[in-house]
Amino acid sequence: MARVYRFMEVCGTHTVNFFRFGLRKLLPPEVELVSGPGCPVCVMPPEEVDFLVEVARKPGVVVCAFGDLLKVPGSKGSLREVRAQGGGVRLIYSPMEAVHLAASEPEKKIVLAGVGFETTAPAHAVALLEARKRRLRNFFFFSALRIMPPPLRALLSDPELALDGLLLPGHVSAVIGSRPYTFIAEEFGLPGVITGFEPRDMLEGLARLLELARSGRPTIEIQYRRVVTPEGNPWGKRLLKEVFRPVDGRWRGLGLIPGSKLALAPDFEEFSAEKTFSLEPKPLPEPPGCACGKILRGQKRPPECPLFGKRCTPETPYGPCMVSSEGACAAYFRFAESE
Ligand code: SF4
Repeated sequence: MARVYRFMEVCGTHTVNFFRFGLRKLLPPEVELVSGPGCPVCVMPPEEVDFLVEVARKPGVVVCAFGDLLKVPGSKGSLREVRAQGGGVRLIYSPMEAVHLAASEPEKKIVLAGVGFETTAPAHAVALLEARKRRLRNFFFFSALRIMPPPLRALLSDPELALDGLLLPGHVSAVIGSRPYTFIAEEFGLPGVITGFEPRDMLEGLARLLELARSGRPTIEIQYRRVVTPEGNPWGKRLLKEVFRPVDGRWRGLGLIPGSKLALAPDFEEFSAEKTFSLEPKPLPEPPGCACGKILRGQKRPPECPLFGKRCTPETPYGPCMVSSEGACAAYFRFAESE
């Protein structure tokens, strides 16, 4: 029997696109793909959702959040439920919308929920710089922004994971470059290929990853050369350094990971939502029965969760991996039947 190579597609967009473009059907039997922690709302621990829900219930407060986050259930409900009950929740498409809202409604406290990885963090940094420039006193920020390399180190340190290589995220890497991943090859002896999102990119990236794994060459390569460089985007990296600082952060399914979250830099702490509302998210257990944590660690496939497609569907999500369009459970639910 041919040896099976087990690769992790770190990014949620890769997970979805392998289904959407019908690429999984084209894979040879020797390739097994497992999903990783690259869906921003899926990796938010429940206490962060609860924080936003609690703040949105306060009178005169409006929490501004992207669409996926609205549906994520915490232990006290979701932002969508708060909105339906008349609470202060606004769906936004760009962090700057929250700044404009704060300027136009000075009697309200506007809280921007910052969710994402290095890809979207610079846009949040721009919003914070603009809020400071306009001297807004009613604009606040809650950071659930996370950094991608630290959870990869945490995952690869798990001897049970047994991976042969990683398909690395194109958009995160457009900001940070390829250098922060060199530890994957040097310390863990595995190859990684930074890959784009078009069908051709993904097949090319995967074929190269297979070639590197088969020939035992641990190295980090860039398939997505039209966007990613080894150094990354200096402007984006400068913004992140100016506005944020890395701190230890809790990830759903992965626990506390050193230096994996972006908190406000000291010069921007006046915008801290935690300080303004004197609330500190305290670690909470994950919803009973939800296997999201194991799915984010590549230890289970969504259909192996007993709640998949029954208690938990995209319409009635029980766990976060079913909420986001980038969540592995949602991708399997929407596309796996057509495989
Ligand atoms: Fe969690 Fe639902 Fe996925 Fe099961 S199907 S792991 S309950 S998100």
